[in-house]
Amino acid sequence: MHNRKAVYPGSFDPITNGHIDIIQRGLKIFDNILIAVLENPNKRPLFTTKERVKMIQEIFSDQKNVEVKSFHGLLVRFAKENNAKVVMRGLRAISDFEYEFQLALMNRKLDPEIETFFMMPNVKYSFLSSNLVKEVSMLGGCLKGLVPEAIEARLKNKTYNSYKKL
Ligand code: ADP
Repeated sequence: MHNRKAVYPGSFDPITNGHIDIIQRGLKIFDNILIAVLENPNKRPLFTTKERVKMIQEIFSDQKNVEVKSFHGLLVRFAKENNAKVVMRGLRAISDFEYEFQLALMNRKLDPEIETFFMMPNVKYSFLSSNLVKEVSMLGGCLKGLVPEAIEARLKNKTYNSYKKL
């Protein structure tokens, strides 16, 4: 049987326990997961692409079947170049659905050979987003249980420094 590989694309600014939950579920289904970190200067990310890639690599350092790369341009092209036929996405709530539906059908039009695969996280992460995590960190709130400790430390550092610049 051939190797089943999925691409999991996103901004991951930063990665949260919700993303990690989806990746762990995905590993039960796919042999390899390629985490694709979107280079999105227009979205003005808090962490640079390099930082986002490095943080994820550290989290999965002892898992050989998880790879992390940055990408720009068309996702379906990136998937094909990396021999993946599946795009994995997480669905938190109904609010994610409309956008994800559009994206999945657009990607199917662009490349009918690529399928999108959706999974729901543990309900305790279904309210969690990178944006909310950044906001809470900026305001000095506790993120225990929502992001790995190393990420919380990085966030504190970053948001403290960006606060100082204001
Ligand atoms: P965005 O598209 O908003 O930049 P992200 O880059 O944060 O989203 O996320 C990438 C993927 O992970 C998307 O499919 C998104 O729905 C999913 N995701 C994000 N946060 C969670 C979460 N807490 N639980 C499950 N899936 C999530």
